Amino acid sequence: VGKHPQLAALASTHPPFDVHAVRRDFPILKERVNGYPLAWLDNAATTQKPQAVIDRIAEFYKRENSNIHRAAHELAARATDAYEGARDIVGRFLNASSSSEVVFVRGATEAINLVAKSWGKQYIGEGDEIVISWLEHHANIVPWQQLCSETGAVLRVMPVDECGQVILSEYQKLLSHRTKLVSFTQVSNALGTITPAQEIIEMAHRVGAKVLLDGAQSVSHIKVDVQALGCDWFVFSGHKIFGPTGIGALYGKADVLAATQPWQGGGNMIEDVTFEKTIYQPAPAKFEAGTGNIADAVGLGAALEYLNRLGIENVARYEHELLEYGMHALRSIPGVRLIGTAAEKTSVMSFVLAGFSTVEVGNALNDAGIAVRAGHHCAQPILRRFGLEATVRPSLAFYNTYEEIDRLASVVKRLQCSAK
Ligand code: PLP
Repeated sequence: VGKHPQLAALASTHPPFDVHAVRRDFPILKERVNGYPLAWLDNAATTQKPQAVIDRIAEFYKRENSNIHRAAHELAARATDAYEGARDIVGRFLNASSSSEVVFVRGATEAINLVAKSWGKQYIGEGDEIVISWLEHHANIVPWQQLCSETGAVLRVMPVDECGQVILSEYQKLLSHRTKLVSFTQVSNALGTITPAQEIIEMAHRVGAKVLLDGAQSVSHIKVDVQALGCDWFVFSGHKIFGPTGIGALYGKADVLAATQPWQGGGNMIEDVTFEKTIYQPAPAKFEAGTGNIADAVGLGAALEYLNRLGIENVARYEHELLEYGMHALRSIPGVRLIGTAAEKTSVMSFVLAGFSTVEVGNALNDAGIAVRAGHHCAQPILRRFGLEATVRPSLAFYNTYEEIDRLASVVKRLQCSAK
């Protein structure tokens, strides 16, 4: 901290977060890229995995591997316990009222599609309205567009202001008895905006609409409590919260899941099958047809336990200070335009540099061992709202350091000077 005078102003009263100890838990952070220590600033795309997660998955395959539920032998019991144990961890992490409100899916995209293709097909009809926000990832746009074109429902979009925050008064104007669903992100992947989720949810419920909250970018940065938020569904991906790829979770309120038909049919989700009729299991099994991603669900459980040990409040506090530092560093470079400057913000520092394409900036950073995303971030509408097709997007996690931010800023500064 002593090396960084700006930090004096940001010094918190809390004990410092021991980022160097935390970094030792992540083997990949010891990698070198182009002769430099890897600086992983692409956390909004995916996060790195702690040894605890890697070990837990290996342990599953060494000692527990079996299909679950069906076979009556010791390893089936171990695998089932591990899988259902992971469901319990997810339920507690989100503060669901029961782990049976947690459905394992491939990720946030599959979770949103599940809701669109099960609940949506059952309950949305011609003339109904679905409200999303301008901030959405394509995963929270395309499934609703598809549903609208199949049913004759109408998609409405809540606008955002110049800082990239949703405008509640404009959102209010979109709500009516026709609104059946509001589906929006808790944190924008392109800008980092933290939306006022609780207010948006309460306003939707006042007109009788259901609410899906996309937590793909929020769960790893801020405390999530689905009961306090009151959302009807909450979705996230394991790989963005230090867990494996190919696994994620859909939380759904018990009564909503009970009143929804399954979207896929097959083994595992049935109580009884004859050629005339199938009786389904109750949720969550009725939404988990076929053999699921058992080992990675167990790995996701290990990732959430790891994060619990660090404490999400400690993580949030450290990341907030790092973000302030990073925004200040980038803002002070001539030619940098920051996109997304809402007061409520986490992790993401999207920017463009005058005179350089985003690919050129991304390549210069890669040459210096710094990984960022340069592109449209699967969120084209929000970038176009700011007149852009792409940005450079460094995105933080708790294992990033002030030194990495300094390296990022110095490469951008060097590029900017080279343009003169
Ligand atoms: N929603 C948001 C806000 C995201 O940032 C992402 C991924 O970047 C998704 C949904 C989709 O996540 P996945 O590709 O893991 O299904």
